[in-house]
Amino acid sequence: MSWIYDAHIHLSDPEYKSDIDMILNYMDLLKIKACCVSMDIETSNETMNLHQKSKNVLPFIGIHPEMAQKESEPVYNLIEKNNKIITGIGEIGLDRTYIDSEEEWNVQKEVFSKQLSFAEKFNKPISIHSRKTLSDIFEILPSYKIPGILLHWFDGNKAQLRTAMDNQYFVSYGPLLLYANDKQVLLTKTDPSQLLVETDGPVRFSRCFEYKTTEIMFVSSVIFCASKILHTSYEKLLTQIEDNSKRFLGI
Ligand SMILES: [Zn+2]
Repeated sequence: MSWIYDAHIHLSDPEYKSDIDMILNYMDLLKIKACCVSMDIETSNETMNLHQKSKNVLPFIGIHPEMAQKESEPVYNLIEKNNKIITGIGEIGLDRTYIDSEEEWNVQKEVFSKQLSFAEKFNKPISIHSRKTLSDIFEILPSYKIPGILLHWFDGNKAQLRTAMDNQYFVSYGPLLLYANDKQVLLTKTDPSQLLVETDGPVRFSRCFEYKTTEIMFVSSVIFCASKILHTSYEKLLTQIEDNSKRFLGI
C-alpha cells in the first residue's frame, strides 16, 4: 500500500497543539507522511519536536516571508545545527503583502537568498511561498543548485506553469482544487511527474470545507478530486504522487 504525502502542512502551528497526539496517531494508521513546514524560530523548534515524536513528520525549517523582518540568526543556527536531521527548508519565499517599504523588501529578499544558500550547501529540498512573486522567484532560483524545488499552492498563470515545468520544479495544489476552476485547469496542464498535493493546514477553506480548521486527512480528498479531473484512478494517482514526493525529497 502506498503512503500518502502531504507536501505542505503547518503541524507546528499552535492551532494543532491540543490535538497533535491524535493527528500523529491518524497519520500512522492512515499511512500519511507530512512535510511539516515552519514559519519562524518557535515553529521551527516545534517542528523538530514533532519529528522526535513521529518519523512521519518530515521536518522543514525556515523563515516565512511574513516573519522575515524578525531576527533570523536563531533559525539559521538551527538549520546549521540540524542539517543532518532536517528533511528540507521551508516555508521560504517572497510576498509583498508583508512589506511596507523598499528596505523591508530587501530584507525579505536577503532572508530568502540566505535560506537558498543553506539548501544548496546542505543539499536540501525547499518549499516556496510565491504569492504574486513568481517572476521574481524565477529570476533568483537559477543562481542556486537545489535538489528539489516545490512551488507550494501554485497560483501562477499557464505561462508561469510552463516555466516551472521546464525547470523541473514541482508544484502542489491543495483543497482549493475541489472548487476552484482555475486550479483545475492548471492541474490538467501540469506534468504528472511534477505534481504534489498539500493541505496547507491549518489554513481554512470555504465552500465544502466551511472554514473549518484544515485537517491532514483532507489530503486524500485532494488526491481523489485530482484523479477525477485527470481521468485516472485514485490508486494510480496516489502511487504517482508517492513517487513524485520521494523524488522531491530525495528519499
Ligand atoms: Zn504554508
